[in-house]
Amino acid sequence: MSEVEVVTSKPSNFIRNIINADLEAGKNEGHIRTRFPPEPNGYLHIGHAKSICLNFGIANDYNGECNLRFDDTNPHKENEEFVNAIKEDVLWLGFDWTDHQYFASDYFGKLYDYAVQLIEQGDAYVCDLSADEIREYRGTLTEPGKNSPYRDRSIAENLALFKGMRDGEFADGSKLLRAKIDMSSPNINMRDPAIYRIRHGVVHHQTGSEWCIYPMYDYTHCLSDSIEGVTHSICTLEFADHKALYDWFLDTLKVPCHPLQIEFSRLNLQYAITSKRKLTQLVEDGLVDGWNDPRMSTISGMRRRGYPAAAIRDFCERIGVTKADNSVEMEMFDNCIRENLNEHAPRAMAVLNPLKVVITNYPEGQTEQLVAANHPQDDSMGTRIVPFTRELYIDKEDFKEEANNKFKRLVTDKEVRLRNAYVIRCDEVIKDAEGEIIELRCSYDPATLGANPEGRKVKGVIHWVSAEQGIKAEVRLFDRLFNHPHPDNDKSVDDFTVHINPNSLVTLTDCVLEPSLLDAAPGTVYQFEREGYFCADSELCQDGKLVFNRTVTLRDTWDKPE
Ligand code: ATP
Ligand code: MG
Repeated sequence: MSEVEVVTSKPSNFIRNIINADLEAGKNEGHIRTRFPPEPNGYLHIGHAKSICLNFGIANDYNGECNLRFDDTNPHKENEEFVNAIKEDVLWLGFDWTDHQYFASDYFGKLYDYAVQLIEQGDAYVCDLSADEIREYRGTLTEPGKNSPYRDRSIAENLALFKGMRDGEFADGSKLLRAKIDMSSPNINMRDPAIYRIRHGVVHHQTGSEWCIYPMYDYTHCLSDSIEGVTHSICTLEFADHKALYDWFLDTLKVPCHPLQIEFSRLNLQYAITSKRKLTQLVEDGLVDGWNDPRMSTISGMRRRGYPAAAIRDFCERIGVTKADNSVEMEMFDNCIRENLNEHAPRAMAVLNPLKVVITNYPEGQTEQLVAANHPQDDSMGTRIVPFTRELYIDKEDFKEEANNKFKRLVTDKEVRLRNAYVIRCDEVIKDAEGEIIELRCSYDPATLGANPEGRKVKGVIHWVSAEQGIKAEVRLFDRLFNHPHPDNDKSVDDFTVHINPNSLVTLTDCVLEPSLLDAAPGTVYQFEREGYFCADSELCQDGKLVFNRTVTLRDTWDKPE
């Protein structure tokens, strides 16, 4: 057995325990190979991230490999756009399959030969029952199934018919190749499952029109694992009942490599959807703005929203791997995002609901280039210049004409500190004809730049932006896409989309940002001080237009519905 260095810094879990025991027993010559097997029929979501972190994480820790294998046996639902998006997402998450990229369709030739072998062994037959009849013959959980009248066809007849299927002699749905196992098995998956079906007229994204028969998932998956020399085939719990079939195909075909299937519980995240079918529905019905809408639980949506890949990996690590059904609280995910961003996001000032402030004792036309730290705890992140001018904006929320001492912001005839700048006092409030406050007239204390005022305490600190030099931007405030913790599991409604949160996107069009943000690279996340974390949108920042997405609030402010 070759030496394998086991990295033990990661918390162990039952899968790692199985692998450790296998290594100790000298199995697989001490080598570990896992795989991540997405079907390219949609974009990856947070649930897939868990599987990616698990499979690639194990391969990394045990000096093994993780194959990226596209499970592409349903050509009518799959396409190249999805293949490319999946690759981009896996790489972005921080994992690399190096040259181990495969398609199940790479094995269509081998899979055909294995099917011929099954027929020759008397372990598979061509069946002419219709889909409805097959369902009827299958039986139920409490009743055994019935044998198909075609079950006893001769080997020679089956070989000829299967070749005819391949050669395009039969219509879609008119014939199936089925495994001959046991129609009375208590496990319905073992009741002569389909192996190959006929599909004319679809162009496969990898194999074009070469095939008009396609192998079924259960048959394809175990053999693809075996062909690739996978040692541990890790899947979600719903495949536990399919394991007998996984093993049956490999045992019956006597293949040299028989991977071990291990099941773990899928990630369910509250207020989010982790079903590709339902995510597809949101996209196709126009309920969101594409797969990478920042409200989507897709990896591309989270990337566009500004979630750091490291925070997603951290989250996947913290939730752990078990066999218990679970639903993870959204707060836990948000906290992983906040923790990461609090440490890494540079600070900046942005006024989302601007209210004009004129500093009456500040010289007209003067600009001071004030220096502000990019991070309060991390000097290595450097400083930036923030221009201070006579006319500024503060946020409407940060001013009240009258307030008690709990309101630590600006109040008429009181003082507040402008972050990174001076202490100002509000002397006068200007209102329009409707009585709405449109401007504040203030005075500043020139002795308070980086110094406490003489003889008095000023507790509040608010953010601001120069009116003359600030830049206009649109800011999109996202909230949870659903207002139900289990939108796709509510039996009282037919359609999960009724749970869409109508306020999941609020667009503010008059925001003003400090000028340093003009060069914000799409994808960089800033902490807009006192407001939250925001990221320049990768699609909407065009032709000089700036659009920022709120990644996450500073604290958990979500009001839980009753
Ligand atoms: P669908 O949503 O259509 O049922 P799927 O989520 O199973 O499909 P696949 O492309 O087959 O999509 O998934 C690829 C891998 O990701 C599989 O190994 C699957 O078990 C795993 N996976 C999918 N969803 C989750 C989840 N919520 N938690 C953990 N792993 C998941
Ligand atoms: Mg699947």
